[in-house]
Amino acid sequence: KLSPFERSKYLYALARMIQKNSRFLSVLETIDNGKPIRETRDIDIPLVARHFYYHAGWSAKDTSSKNKPIGVVGQIIPWNFPLLMAAWKIAPALAAGCTVILKPAEQTPLSALRLTEIINDSGLLPKGVLNVITGLGEEAGAPIASHPDIDKVAFTGSTEVGKLITKASAGNLKKVTLELGGKSPAIVFPDADIDAAIQGVASGIFFNHGQTCCAGSRLFAHEKVYDKVTEGVAEIAKSIKVGPGMNDKDGSQMGPLVSNEQYEKVVGYMESGKQDGAECLVGGTHDNSNGGHFVHPTVFSKTNADMKFVQEEIFGPVLTTQKITDDDLNSIASEANNTEFGLAASVWSKDISTAHKMAAKIKAGTVWINCHNVFDSALPFGGYKQSGNGREMGFECMDNYLETKAVTVNL
Ligand code: ADP
Repeated sequence: KLSPFERSKYLYALARMIQKNSRFLSVLETIDNGKPIRETRDIDIPLVARHFYYHAGWSAKDTSSKNKPIGVVGQIIPWNFPLLMAAWKIAPALAAGCTVILKPAEQTPLSALRLTEIINDSGLLPKGVLNVITGLGEEAGAPIASHPDIDKVAFTGSTEVGKLITKASAGNLKKVTLELGGKSPAIVFPDADIDAAIQGVASGIFFNHGQTCCAGSRLFAHEKVYDKVTEGVAEIAKSIKVGPGMNDKDGSQMGPLVSNEQYEKVVGYMESGKQDGAECLVGGTHDNSNGGHFVHPTVFSKTNADMKFVQEEIFGPVLTTQKITDDDLNSIASEANNTEFGLAASVWSKDISTAHKMAAKIKAGTVWINCHNVFDSALPFGGYKQSGNGREMGFECMDNYLETKAVTVNL
């Protein structure tokens, strides 16, 4: 019932509160998730605050009397960017005037709990507006998806669970938005700035240990530059220092994977690639001693679309590479599109015409040209095909939390 201006004030205050607590939140996030403290401090938490600032703006600009909050919203999020995923969900819902029940991932609930504590302690939101429920997916997530009094569910996670959520939501036909898996291609043309492409492809797959739904996990490089690009990426892979996320002084650049389950899964995919005949150029090694789940940055060659680890989402620091031998853009696009996913892609070329033609042919919700993993709260993000439906960020995201009502008055 709050006015748009009132909601906006709450969201600005929340953003400032997050900034004030950013050190504590960064440390908590690194301890919980394992990623390097430099990343939580310089990337995750600043993006969280920015996201609240951005949506505070939308809230105040909602002058339309025909848009109404959708109601009670259930939000289920994963462990790869725990607080950022919470922000992507909470900020637009509050901006739209909805109430929220958030379920963080069982592996990483701490930062969302701390955020709620901060909000409660400061008396920032009216009681009951933001609620956090922790627990396992089947025990705490599934009841949200099926609950008859929840009007909308927003989910980020695996495609497999996304399908379960869709089924569970059918009881009351609640609105569903899904941000699911990916197997994003990075396509390098021979006229690209090759040094920039090498850097971009490497960070596209290795950022956040490859535990990123839009990771550029399949490299397609033109045969004229394939060797140079793969060798360059392999060099970077070799140079990345793997170690505990809190060991900033020792220069840890990549932490452990989030859990033993994830470690086993990634190692299993590396083994399956080798069995299918792929060649490991660098990495392929892993260390699960002392309770750490370390997987070294890995690049495979001699891979093709028939291999399981080229088709399925690995969600780890593992890059598969293929040569582009054909200059026809349609055939390049059909190889790049040859997966059930359609979340993102990057295209590397100095020819703006080639880049845009490729962008048009790629079936994905995000196409980066000469960059990868670039995000902004104003840019809508989401998937084609089995990467989900609906968009997060941008005004598109506000639409997820609003109903349109036409009231006609006979004067
Ligand atoms: P991942 O495989 O990356 O761990 P999941 O899709 O399993 O991703 O998990 C993402 C989120 O979905 C987590 O919060 C998890 O607890 C939740 N979840 C898992 N299974 C279900 C389910 N059957 N119903 C609702 N939520 C679930």
